[in-house]
Amino acid sequence: MKKLLWIIPIVVVFAIAYYYLYGKEQSLIAGDCPNVTIYLQPYDNYAQKEAELLKADLEKHVEQIVFSGFNFVVLPNKPLPDSYLGETRKKYRTDKIINTLKEDADDHHIYIGITHHDISREYKNGVKDWGVLGSSIPDYHACVVSDHRLKHKKRDLWKVVTHEFIHTYYRFPHCPKDSSNCIMKDAKGKADFSNKNDLCGYCKSKIG
Ligand SMILES: [Zn+2]
Ligand SMILES: [Zn+2]
Repeated sequence: MKKLLWIIPIVVVFAIAYYYLYGKEQSLIAGDCPNVTIYLQPYDNYAQKEAELLKADLEKHVEQIVFSGFNFVVLPNKPLPDSYLGETRKKYRTDKIINTLKEDADDHHIYIGITHHDISREYKNGVKDWGVLGSSIPDYHACVVSDHRLKHKKRDLWKVVTHEFIHTYYRFPHCPKDSSNCIMKDAKGKADFSNKNDLCGYCKSKIG
Protein backbone atom coordinates (compact mmCIF):
# COMPACT_ATOMS: atom_id res chain seq x y z
CA MET A 1 0.00 0.00 0.00
CA LYS A 2 2.76 2.43 0.98
CA LYS A 3 4.30 1.89 -2.43
CA LEU A 4 1.24 3.53 -4.00
CA LEU A 5 1.30 6.71 -1.85
CA TRP A 6 3.52 8.53 -4.37
CA ILE A 7 0.55 8.57 -6.74
CA ILE A 8 -1.47 10.95 -4.50
CA PRO A 9 0.50 14.21 -5.12
CA ILE A 10 0.55 13.50 -8.85
CA VAL A 11 -3.25 13.04 -8.91
CA VAL A 12 -3.69 16.32 -6.94
CA VAL A 13 -1.48 18.26 -9.36
CA PHE A 14 -3.41 16.89 -12.35
CA ALA A 15 -6.76 17.70 -10.69
CA ILE A 16 -5.73 21.34 -10.09
CA ALA A 17 -4.36 21.70 -13.63
CA TYR A 18 -7.59 20.20 -15.04
CA TYR A 19 -9.71 22.71 -13.13
CA TYR A 20 -7.71 25.71 -14.32
CA LEU A 21 -7.49 24.58 -17.93
CA TYR A 22 -10.92 23.04 -18.41
CA GLY A 23 -13.22 23.87 -15.48
CA LYS A 24 -12.94 27.65 -15.93
CA GLU A 25 -13.73 27.42 -19.63
CA GLN A 26 -16.75 25.23 -18.93
CA SER A 27 -18.16 27.68 -16.38
CA LEU A 28 -18.02 30.54 -18.95
CA ILE A 29 -19.81 28.47 -21.60
CA ALA A 30 -22.51 27.56 -19.08
CA GLY A 31 -23.36 31.26 -18.75
CA ASP A 32 -21.83 31.81 -15.32
CA CYS A 33 -20.68 35.42 -15.80
CA PRO A 34 -19.10 36.85 -12.67
CA ASN A 35 -18.80 40.64 -12.63
CA VAL A 36 -19.37 41.52 -16.25
CA THR A 37 -20.09 45.21 -16.87
CA ILE A 38 -21.61 46.47 -20.12
CA TYR A 39 -20.71 50.11 -20.83
CA LEU A 40 -23.08 52.08 -23.07
CA GLN A 41 -21.15 54.86 -24.83
CA PRO A 42 -23.51 57.49 -26.31
CA TYR A 43 -22.03 59.57 -29.14
CA ASP A 44 -22.69 63.14 -30.23
CA ASN A 45 -26.43 64.04 -29.91
CA TYR A 46 -27.55 60.70 -28.39
CA ALA A 47 -28.91 62.17 -25.11
CA GLN A 48 -28.08 60.76 -21.68
CA LYS A 49 -31.84 60.45 -21.02
CA GLU A 50 -32.22 58.29 -24.14
CA ALA A 51 -29.24 56.16 -23.09
CA GLU A 52 -30.81 55.64 -19.64
CA LEU A 53 -34.07 54.54 -21.34
CA LEU A 54 -32.11 52.08 -23.49
CA LYS A 55 -30.31 50.81 -20.39
CA ALA A 56 -33.69 50.14 -18.70
CA ASP A 57 -34.90 48.25 -21.82
CA LEU A 58 -31.70 46.15 -21.79
CA GLU A 59 -31.86 45.39 -18.05
CA LYS A 60 -35.41 44.13 -18.54
CA HIS A 61 -34.88 42.06 -21.71
CA VAL A 62 -31.28 40.77 -21.54
CA GLU A 63 -32.15 39.18 -18.20
CA GLN A 64 -34.98 37.22 -19.84
CA ILE A 65 -33.06 36.33 -23.01
CA VAL A 66 -29.60 35.30 -21.80
CA PHE A 67 -28.50 36.00 -18.24
CA SER A 68 -29.44 38.22 -15.31
CA GLY A 69 -26.03 39.01 -13.82
CA PHE A 70 -24.78 41.80 -16.10
CA ASN A 71 -24.22 45.35 -14.80
CA PHE A 72 -25.05 48.21 -17.18
CA VAL A 73 -23.37 51.63 -17.02
CA VAL A 74 -24.11 54.71 -19.16
CA LEU A 75 -20.91 56.67 -19.92
CA PRO A 76 -20.70 60.46 -20.54
CA ASN A 77 -21.15 61.46 -24.21
CA LYS A 78 -18.26 61.60 -26.66
CA PRO A 79 -18.07 63.44 -30.01
CA LEU A 80 -17.89 61.61 -33.36
CA PRO A 81 -14.98 63.24 -35.21
CA ASP A 82 -15.10 63.75 -39.00
CA SER A 83 -12.08 61.43 -39.25
CA TYR A 84 -14.49 58.53 -38.50
CA LEU A 85 -16.58 59.26 -41.65
CA GLY A 86 -16.54 56.72 -44.48
CA GLU A 87 -15.82 57.33 -48.14
CA THR A 88 -19.25 58.87 -48.94
CA ARG A 89 -18.80 61.26 -45.95
CA LYS A 90 -22.39 60.46 -44.86
CA LYS A 91 -21.86 57.50 -42.50
CA TYR A 92 -19.46 56.85 -39.64
CA ARG A 93 -17.25 53.76 -39.98
CA THR A 94 -17.96 51.04 -37.38
CA ASP A 95 -14.34 49.79 -37.36
CA LYS A 96 -13.02 53.25 -36.48
CA ILE A 97 -15.51 53.62 -33.60
CA ILE A 98 -14.80 50.10 -32.27
CA ASN A 99 -11.06 50.77 -32.48
CA THR A 100 -11.38 53.47 -29.82
CA LEU A 101 -13.92 51.55 -27.71
CA LYS A 102 -11.55 48.58 -27.39
CA GLU A 103 -8.97 50.57 -25.40
CA ASP A 104 -10.56 49.86 -22.00
CA ALA A 105 -12.44 46.67 -22.97
CA ASP A 106 -11.72 43.07 -21.94
CA ASP A 107 -13.61 39.83 -21.09
CA HIS A 108 -15.33 41.50 -18.13
CA HIS A 109 -15.79 45.01 -19.56
CA ILE A 110 -17.82 45.10 -22.78
CA TYR A 111 -18.17 48.46 -24.60
CA ILE A 112 -21.16 49.32 -26.81
CA GLY A 113 -21.20 52.54 -28.84
CA ILE A 114 -24.64 54.11 -29.52
CA THR A 115 -25.47 56.77 -32.09
CA HIS A 116 -28.37 58.33 -34.01
CA HIS A 117 -26.04 58.79 -37.02
CA ASP A 118 -25.88 56.25 -39.84
CA ILE A 119 -22.93 53.83 -39.54
CA SER A 120 -21.18 51.70 -42.16
CA ARG A 121 -18.69 49.01 -42.99
CA GLU A 122 -15.89 49.86 -45.40
CA TYR A 123 -17.15 47.46 -48.09
CA LYS A 124 -19.83 44.76 -48.51
CA ASN A 125 -21.68 43.12 -51.44
CA GLY A 126 -19.73 45.26 -53.91
CA VAL A 127 -20.83 48.49 -52.22
CA LYS A 128 -18.43 50.89 -50.51
CA ASP A 129 -19.54 52.47 -47.22
CA TRP A 130 -22.25 49.81 -46.68
CA GLY A 131 -24.79 51.06 -44.12
CA VAL A 132 -25.58 48.79 -41.13
CA LEU A 133 -27.60 48.76 -37.91
CA GLY A 134 -24.67 47.47 -35.89
CA SER A 135 -21.29 45.76 -35.98
CA SER A 136 -19.08 43.92 -33.52
CA ILE A 137 -15.48 42.77 -33.13
CA PRO A 138 -15.49 39.99 -30.50
CA ASP A 139 -11.68 40.04 -30.11
CA TYR A 140 -11.95 43.74 -29.13
CA HIS A 141 -14.86 43.08 -26.69
CA ALA A 142 -16.70 46.00 -28.32
CA CYS A 143 -19.50 46.78 -30.77
CA VAL A 144 -21.48 49.76 -32.04
CA VAL A 145 -25.15 50.26 -32.96
CA SER A 146 -27.25 52.97 -34.63
CA ASP A 147 -31.01 53.57 -34.61
CA HIS A 148 -30.82 55.58 -37.87
CA ARG A 149 -32.11 52.69 -40.02
CA LEU A 150 -34.86 51.70 -37.57
CA LYS A 151 -36.85 54.73 -38.83
CA HIS A 152 -40.06 54.96 -36.73
CA LYS A 153 -39.23 51.84 -34.69
CA LYS A 154 -36.36 53.37 -32.73
CA ARG A 155 -37.53 51.73 -29.50
CA ASP A 156 -36.34 48.42 -31.07
CA LEU A 157 -32.72 49.51 -30.50
CA TRP A 158 -32.39 47.22 -27.46
CA LYS A 159 -32.86 44.28 -29.88
CA VAL A 160 -29.97 45.47 -32.07
CA VAL A 161 -27.81 45.97 -28.97
CA THR A 162 -28.68 42.48 -27.70
CA HIS A 163 -27.84 41.01 -31.15
CA GLU A 164 -24.42 42.70 -31.26
CA PHE A 165 -23.74 41.96 -27.59
CA ILE A 166 -24.35 38.22 -28.17
CA HIS A 167 -21.86 38.31 -31.10
CA THR A 168 -19.36 40.20 -28.93
CA TYR A 169 -19.58 38.48 -25.55
CA TYR A 170 -20.59 34.92 -26.47
CA ARG A 171 -18.81 34.96 -29.87
CA PHE A 172 -22.02 33.46 -31.21
CA PRO A 173 -22.63 33.67 -35.00
CA HIS A 174 -25.96 34.34 -36.76
CA CYS A 175 -28.87 31.97 -36.08
CA PRO A 176 -27.87 28.66 -37.74
CA LYS A 177 -31.60 27.89 -38.24
CA ASP A 178 -32.21 31.32 -39.87
CA SER A 179 -35.40 31.45 -37.79
CA SER A 180 -37.45 34.56 -38.74
CA ASN A 181 -38.31 35.41 -35.10
CA CYS A 182 -34.80 34.84 -33.71
CA ILE A 183 -32.97 37.95 -32.48
CA MET A 184 -29.73 36.43 -33.89
CA LYS A 185 -31.10 36.04 -37.44
CA ASP A 186 -28.83 37.65 -40.04
CA ALA A 187 -30.59 40.93 -41.02
CA LYS A 188 -29.23 40.57 -44.59
CA GLY A 189 -29.58 44.30 -45.18
CA LYS A 190 -33.17 44.54 -43.83
CA ALA A 191 -33.53 46.89 -40.88
CA ASP A 192 -36.58 45.28 -39.26
CA PHE A 193 -36.46 43.81 -35.77
CA SER A 194 -40.20 44.27 -35.07
CA ASN A 195 -41.07 40.55 -34.70
CA LYS A 196 -37.78 39.50 -33.09
CA ASN A 197 -38.22 39.55 -29.32
CA ASP A 198 -36.18 36.56 -28.19
CA LEU A 199 -33.77 33.83 -29.30
CA CYS A 200 -35.22 30.82 -31.11
CA GLY A 201 -35.24 27.51 -29.21
CA TYR A 202 -32.02 26.32 -30.89
CA CYS A 203 -29.99 29.47 -30.11
CA LYS A 204 -31.40 29.58 -26.57
CA SER A 205 -30.19 26.02 -25.97
CA LYS A 206 -26.67 27.05 -27.07
CA ILE A 207 -26.43 30.38 -25.17
CA GLY A 208 -28.90 30.55 -22.28
ZN1 LIG B 1 -31.80 31.29 -33.57
ZN1 LIG C 1 -25.20 40.02 -36.67
